[in-house]
Parts: sequence; structure tokens; C-alpha cells
Amino acid sequence: MAELVVIGGGPAGMAAAVAAAGRGAQVSLVDSASRLGGQIYRQPLVDGEAPPTPAGPALPRRFRRLGDGSVELLLGWSVWSIVRRSSGFLLLLHPTAGELRGRTLEARAVVLATGASELVLPFPGWDLPGVSTAGCAQALLKSQGVPVGRRVIVAGSGPFLLPVAASIAESGAKVVAVVEASRAVAGLVTLPRGLRHPHKVIEALGYVRTLVRHRVPFLAGRAVVRCEGQGRVERASVARLDRDWLAIPGTERSFEVDAVCVSFDFVPRLELSRHLELTEVANAARPTVSPTHDRTMAASLSGVFVAGELTGIGGAQVAELEGHLAGSAAATYLGHAGEASPSAAEHKVQRRLARSLSFARLMDRLYPLRPGWTSWPSEDTILCRCEDVTWGTVQRAITAGAATTWEVRGLTRCGMGYCQGRTCGPPLQLALAARTGAPLPSVGDLHSRPVATPVRLGDVARSFSQARSALEDGVQGTQGG
Ligand SMILES: Cc1cc2nc3c(=O)[nH]c(=O)nc-3n(C[C@H](O)[C@H](O)[C@H](O)COP(=O)(O)OP(=O)(O)OC[C@H]3O[C@@H](n4cnc5c(N)ncnc54)[C@H](O)[C@@H]3O)c2cc1C
Repeated sequence: MAELVVIGGGPAGMAAAVAAAGRGAQVSLVDSASRLGGQIYRQPLVDGEAPPTPAGPALPRRFRRLGDGSVELLLGWSVWSIVRRSSGFLLLLHPTAGELRGRTLEARAVVLATGASELVLPFPGWDLPGVSTAGCAQALLKSQGVPVGRRVIVAGSGPFLLPVAASIAESGAKVVAVVEASRAVAGLVTLPRGLRHPHKVIEALGYVRTLVRHRVPFLAGRAVVRCEGQGRVERASVARLDRDWLAIPGTERSFEVDAVCVSFDFVPRLELSRHLELTEVANAARPTVSPTHDRTMAASLSGVFVAGELTGIGGAQVAELEGHLAGSAAATYLGHAGEASPSAAEHKVQRRLARSLSFARLMDRLYPLRPGWTSWPSEDTILCRCEDVTWGTVQRAITAGAATTWEVRGLTRCGMGYCQGRTCGPPLQLALAARTGAPLPSVGDLHSRPVATPVRLGDVARSFSQARSALEDGVQGTQGG
């Protein structure tokens, strides 16, 4: 049995593993990807073959020591389920590629650092080939050096659009425009509160400088409201928006493109947190839920620590600081370096974290999600792309009385397909709240997935006997406790 298993090899998971191993804990780190880094530090797929136009930072030196054997690295393995048992946790793993068989791992404690996925709001043509998420474009560039297209629009809302557009422009592709739905574009520089975070301002100005150098137009208060083309995207219609994000009639302008990258926010990846039934807190203004934690990042269940975007969207710096705290606390929980109260160094990390979180909250205020986007899709726009459920079908289900995401799911199959509501769940939640006037958290979500990642039936079968005995053991442990 491992002492600590960290799930996630992004900045949060890497920082947790380094901190815990540094205190003497025996640590295993699992990530679905074949290389460490997570999203922001995503590395080229093949070692030694750097993409011609690197879109992201190299893996920082402080994380490279994870390769020195002090932490067991299980890269290319996904955790598809996690079970609590009397002695700790049982993790069910399957390989993301190749012929290896599924396996199990046992641990006395776990750090969940599973990151986030992207929020995209639907519009006619969002399912055409060539339309992708902004993170997908970024991942393609970072891992393979391939720009997502030759004439690209980057659209949506939030600070993430800037690095994506800058890296696409640097790759040699033409960024036709950055289309930002919010009007508070210059907020970072103009708001006095933004100036309290000089590093972030400098980073943003770096992206702006790149976009200016490449003469990329920045269209604020606008959105891509339609994409068209024969078999793939060829044109994108951009409309001016009013305060609530309703498209203003007569303001549409068409752009010739071969790719459109869209991102409106990120949504924590909650699957494993839900498997453990951790206590959660819901965001009142965004379709996000995250596990609660104390100042050390300990979750509501003993032996479980959480860090990074899973706990709320705050960027890579927040993720790393939280990871450090989670790893340190997990080591203390396991009896290493057993300081009863946080050390001076930990207090310093707490202070830096509070500052970084205040910047994240500022971003939330600058880039609110407005309900007028629900006027962009047409009757036949596909909302659930796995099950081909249209916007019109969902609207009729709401008219018929469906008041929660699960009722819409039951009536229409929305969210029942391969991705299990990862893509359509958050917009469905927003649409329901907008239509019914109910508070966002009360309409429910589609984040519960008994199988966290797609898994081969053979791996399920092989894991079954171990999972069953663990479950029985867990039930006995629970009854005994
Ligand atoms: C697609 C995408 C692209 C992004 N690109 C950028 C960018 O270029 N610049 C930027 O500043 N921010 C980017 N972000 C935001 C980014 O998520 C954060 O800034 C930062 O990487 C968060 O760190 P993290 O450790 O919390 O999560 P991540 O970096 O996302 O790391 C989480 C890791 O957990 C792994 N994982 C999740 N579930 C499982 C499982 N069940 N089993 C095994 N492994 C699992 C994932 O493979 C991933 O490597 C991106 C986000 C997304 C979703």
C-alpha cells in the first residue's frame, strides 16, 4: 500500500508530490497524460522533439526533480474510480494507451488535483469541424506544435483568450480577431485593484504586445453567434452584444476562417470527488461546484486533500500554492515532519495564496457570464453533441416542467452520451436557471459520473473482484466505525 497517491500531474499535483516527498512521505503520482505538466505545462508528446513554436512554459526546474525517483510516477494511467475502505483508499486504474491491463492501487491518503475542463456556450454551428475549445487549440500547439487552423478566431470570455490568441499568432497562423463578450477588457490595467497584482498585469501586457505586433483586432462586447461552412467551418458571424449578452440586431459581421476557438470559463473536474462524496460548495454565479476544504486543503473526509482548479478556478499559481499546502498537510497526516501547527514557511504560502485568490475573484467580477447567450442557439442547434439533443428539444422539456438538469436528462437524453454531460451539462445548468429564474445551484448539475474516465470493459471485469472485496471491506469498516 502506498502512503500517498496524488491524482493529477499539473502544477497542483506536482507541487503536492514534491512537498509530501520532501517531508519523507512515500508518494505515487498518477496522471492520464504520458508526461508531467497538466494543462499549463503541457509538454511535447515525444521527448526531445520540441514543437517548432512552443506555446507554453517549460516544466519548471522545481518539478523536474519528480523524475529523480523520489516519487513513483504512473503516467499514462487514468483513475476511473476511487473507493473508501477501512484502511484508506482503493483506486481503480486503467492505461490510457497500449496493451497494459488495468490495475489497482491502495493508499492511506490521497490528494485530488484533477484540474478543470472548459465551459463552452452553444451557438449555431459550434459543432462544425474546425470549431474547438481554446484549451484544445492550446494543447495541440503545446504537445505537437500544430496550430488549430490558418485563419483563426479566438472567442468567448475571460483572460484565457489572450494567451491562446498570442500563442496561435506566434505559431505563424493568422488570428483574424479575438472576440471577447465582456466589455471589461482593460480592467486589469485600469482598475486599481488589478495593479495590486503587478506580475499578472505584466503577463497580460506581454500577450497584448504580441497581439499588437501581429495586428490582431480585439473586439470587445461581441460574440461569435453563428458558424457556417460546407462540412467544416468557413465563416463566423460576430455580433455586438448588449449588457446582458443579447445579440444586437443588425450588428453582425462575417469573417472568413478555417478555425474558431471558444472558451467562456473552466469547470472543476469533480468525478473522483463525487465518488468519495466530499462535501461541496456551489458557485452562485457560475455552473461550478467544488469540494470544501480547510486552510491546509484537507477535504471533508479524513485522509483526502484537494488542490488546484478542482477547488475553484484560480489559475496555475493558485493551483501550485494549494498543491504545496495539500502535500505538506498530507505528509503531516501520515506522520511525517509532524508539526502540529503550520510552520512560518506555510504561513508565507497561505499569504501568497490569499493574494492570488483575490486576483482570481477580481477576474470573476470582470468576466461575468450573462444570460443573454441563451438567445444565440436556434431551435435545431445541437446542445448535447453525444446524443444529438437539440436546443429546441431541451426548451420543450423545460416548458413541459423539467426544472432540474436530471429531469431534462431523463426526458431528452441530454448528457447521457460518451462525455456524460461534461460539455452540455454546464450550459444546460445556466439555461435552466435563466429560463426558470431559479438560483443556479438549485437546478442541479451533471457532474456525477460513476465511471470517471472511459474504461475498457476488460479492465472493469479484472478490477471487479478487487473492487468488490474492497467495497465489502469498506462497508464492514464503516459499520465497525
Ligand atoms: C484544456 C485546458 C488548457 C489550458 N491551458 C492553459 C494555458 O495554456 N495557460 C494557462 O495559464 N492556463 C491554462 N489552463 C488553465 C489551467 O487548468 C490552470 O491554469 C492550471 O493548469 C491548473 O492546474 P491544476 O494542477 O489544477 O490542473 P491541470 O493542470 O489541469 O492538471 C490536472 C491533471 O489531472 C489529470 N487528471 C484528471 N483527472 C484524472 C484522472 N481521473 N486520472 C488521472 N489523471 C487525471 C489530468 O490529465 C491533468 O494532467 C488550461 C485549462 C484547460 C482545461
